[in-house]
Amino acid sequence: MLASLSPHLEAQHTPLKAALSALVRIPSVCAEGEGGYPFGAAVDQALRAALQIAGDLGLRTHYGDGGYYGYAEIGEGAEMLGVLGHLDVVPPGKPEDWQAGPFDPVEKDGNLYGRGTQDDKGPLLAALFAVKALMDAGVKFNKRVRFIFGTDEETLWRCINRYKEKEELPGLGFSPDARFPLIFAEKGLLQLHLEGANESGLRIAGGSAFNAVPDTMLYAGERQDDLARKLDELGFPFTRKAQGIEIRGKAAHAMIPEEGINAIARLCIVLRAIGIASRTIDFIAQEVGEDPNAKRIFGACADEPSGKLKFNVGMIDLGEVERISIDCRIPVTVSKVEIVSKLSAAAARYGLAYKEFDWLAPIYLPKDHFMIETLMRVYRQVSGDDVSQPIASGGATYARAIDNCVAFGALFPGEILTEHQPNECADLRSLYKAMEIYAQAIHELTR
Ligand SMILES: [Zn+2]
Repeated sequence: MLASLSPHLEAQHTPLKAALSALVRIPSVCAEGEGGYPFGAAVDQALRAALQIAGDLGLRTHYGDGGYYGYAEIGEGAEMLGVLGHLDVVPPGKPEDWQAGPFDPVEKDGNLYGRGTQDDKGPLLAALFAVKALMDAGVKFNKRVRFIFGTDEETLWRCINRYKEKEELPGLGFSPDARFPLIFAEKGLLQLHLEGANESGLRIAGGSAFNAVPDTMLYAGERQDDLARKLDELGFPFTRKAQGIEIRGKAAHAMIPEEGINAIARLCIVLRAIGIASRTIDFIAQEVGEDPNAKRIFGACADEPSGKLKFNVGMIDLGEVERISIDCRIPVTVSKVEIVSKLSAAAARYGLAYKEFDWLAPIYLPKDHFMIETLMRVYRQVSGDDVSQPIASGGATYARAIDNCVAFGALFPGEILTEHQPNECADLRSLYKAMEIYAQAIHELTR
């Protein structure tokens, strides 16, 4: 641990805040192909701005492959430590839900508000300015430190995949895109469709994403009175609207479906109970129901490092064909093949075929892995928190993209997660503390 770093870290507080405000002002939401850039002009502008910031701090920068990614590097040596973060942000949602504009950063009570302050512009810049503090302290880097700036993390990872095709891979790294102390296990992430011919004549559609528990479903068919009676009987909340009956669930991220209420599942349960059937309605009502672990299909699927399998039906569409879209988070030691075979077999009984959409393999680093040991030690020394343990997560970070990589910060235990929500904010004191942890960690990993 470096003792003499404090003044150099403090000197970066104001520049970090200014740089973060400037990046948050760029509404870098994915707009594929817009303006001739892979993910739109704003994402490109954010990439260029980040490279400019890094260049001004004295790092060597590279704008990669027409704007798919960029990187900034410092230090010498054959080995490379990667710091992997992203500059794209999720859409802001309704502007009226924000106290100030999502892209007008405002500081209030020590928090900086704006889309991207927590995910991931703030943490990424905290790590970048940590390197500047190390440079100012005259620290020598015996490995290269390369910041890899992704631009498509919130959608399909085309950025980091392109980077992996074209560029040198770091031998170790961390991704400042989650929480402290660190994430040692990320579940396998499988997204898929089940589909079959629609012989029911029904037309129903709802849900907006694989990875979100759907919070409303509308039924506009002829059996509204029967449906309402059954909903009452089961105690499922609903609203009668001009267009039909709206079933009210509760939104949640698909990695924690147990915290939501799945409106698609409730609609299917009630439809089946009043005798309305189709392949997907029957499948959901009989095989899944409201169980976020889908135990009927998979049994009690869980493991010690990473917990239970999570299962979310995110979208349904009964048109010419009927299709449901599912997000499934698989424990790190469970084989994907086994899960796919159980799910395919269950689906086949309803005449539904399995179609894979996306698969991200799990990561799992044992607790005595050098990355875990080093980063835990640094975290404990700087934060004084020696209670918190390494975390297993259902989320997905760039840590999956390279070997010997874990997600490390920047949210502290007990802090409120505001990413992807209105009024996203970063606590500046925490961000400065994260910068200190990153500085010590980068020093430890490159000395
Ligand atoms: Zn992120």
